[in-house]
Amino acid sequence: MQFDRHGNRIWRQAQALLDTEHARRAIGEVQVPYGLCTEPSNVAAGGGDCPVHFRCVGCGHFRTDISYLPDLEAYLADLLRNRERLAAFVDADAWAKSEAVPSDEEIARVRRLVQRLRTDLDELTDEDRAQVQEAVVLDRRGRTVSLGMPRIPQPRPDLRPSRTA
Ligand code: SF4
Repeated sequence: MQFDRHGNRIWRQAQALLDTEHARRAIGEVQVPYGLCTEPSNVAAGGGDCPVHFRCVGCGHFRTDISYLPDLEAYLADLLRNRERLAAFVDADAWAKSEAVPSDEEIARVRRLVQRLRTDLDELTDEDRAQVQEAVVLDRRGRTVSLGMPRIPQPRPDLRPSRTA
């Protein structure tokens, strides 16, 4: 269940691809905070050399999958929280606040992506959803993202949290 930054499903025929094709694709991608990056210079640098400072939801080299849904939901909640905090913060110049505030475009893009992933997950049968959940746990086990910052283990996923965002 992979998606591009617009929330469009990709790799629908993934099961038909040969193992060698899976391996070839894996070499040309690197893990980033909410999915995978295929930008060559960033891949070559192991994920630490993004030309647009990890604005992944606005980048054509980004793709994500259902295992990142908890991270994307947390990202959306962070953006909304930061926007509220900045709106209430008075001790800063207007230019500083406007540069720090998350853009409406970014919030809309993340919200749409989360909704698309949730919708696709909801359309699965209970059995398929259970299998996806199992695969996600395996996939996320030991997953870490390095952005030149301390490596942070990913939390256990809950693909069906309360729908508050
Ligand atoms: S924004 Fe994300 S997907 Fe795009 S090049 Fe940077 S790390 Fe890769």
